[in-house]
Amino acid sequence: MVNLATNASGAITSTAKQVVDAVNADPAASALVTANPYRGNAGAGVVAAAADVRLTDFLKAPASVSRDPFQMKVLHIGKSRDRSKTGVFLYCQEHAREWVTPITCLEAAERLLRNYAQDRETRKLLDDLDIFVLPTTNPDGSHYSMHDYNMQRRNMTNHCADDASDPARRNSWRVDLNRNFSVGAFSDGYNGASATCTSDTYAGPAKLSEPEARNEVWLTNEYPNIKFAMNTHSYGGYFMWPPGAYKTAGREVLPRVDFGTENYFWSASDHILSAVQTHRGTAIWVGESIQGLAAQQTTVDTSLWALPWPQLVFLALLVLTFLVVRTLLSRRRKRREQQAAILREASELIAQYGDKPEKSS
Ligand SMILES: [Zn+2]
Repeated sequence: MVNLATNASGAITSTAKQVVDAVNADPAASALVTANPYRGNAGAGVVAAAADVRLTDFLKAPASVSRDPFQMKVLHIGKSRDRSKTGVFLYCQEHAREWVTPITCLEAAERLLRNYAQDRETRKLLDDLDIFVLPTTNPDGSHYSMHDYNMQRRNMTNHCADDASDPARRNSWRVDLNRNFSVGAFSDGYNGASATCTSDTYAGPAKLSEPEARNEVWLTNEYPNIKFAMNTHSYGGYFMWPPGAYKTAGREVLPRVDFGTENYFWSASDHILSAVQTHRGTAIWVGESIQGLAAQQTTVDTSLWALPWPQLVFLALLVLTFLVVRTLLSRRRKRREQQAAILREASELIAQYGDKPEKSS
């Protein structure tokens, strides 16, 4: 509670700015909230006294969703996980609203584990590689996307100034994690991101300013055997690999990879996209990413592992219809059997007693 100042006649004299300063100066209060004058206003106006207001975080997620920093969990799969094998890092959902991507990451992990015993190709992968799967790179944004604002793309950190920091603008701020990396970074002059804190491609105040991006980099530093990485999104329909970023000034490009590596990307994309097309009949754009992401990242359209959802939904409806019809038919059959039994019993009773005159008393 903030006690407002009054003058000799008892009228309130505290200004909004004084209330803001009092809240921020109080250790207990400032541990919970940061007060700002409304959208950059000087706050010179005298405030009106108000009844106690219960503070809220305005988040609609149930209490079971923790408000504390989220611990990101990586699945580590492979027969030898001692850094002796080539590492492959699959990570999904940098963009919160791309909901299908964490499922594709989990689906990939599950297929690797379930098929190991039966499938020779899968066994070879797990015997020869050290695989890391991070189902969601953006847990905070994802919760917000699920419970509050389904178009949420970025994480939940606010780097905006007071004018855009009030709760009514909370869908506008945040950092695009896919623009926060250190290779081909916006702050180094590379094209493809924004310096505006309310832009959906906001790069953040500095390279790797966001814990989510630093977590990815930490993993690749901790396991230097990681030589391949794949960043899965569900928008755009591209299969991309770096480096394709260039500086706006002079169109200076990132150093090119050597011919062998470039060739490897092209043949890998040919192999992968042919398989996608055979399986799904969809065409995907191939090319180098225009925005510098983390080093050695390859971005792939989620359709690589996505399930054929329309067919699955159709199949599920078909099965449901079958079950409903079967239940209805069996109920009807039972009813008919009951009726037949009652009729049988009735006719037996009629045969037994029906034609005998009743005794009169
Ligand atoms: Zn995306």
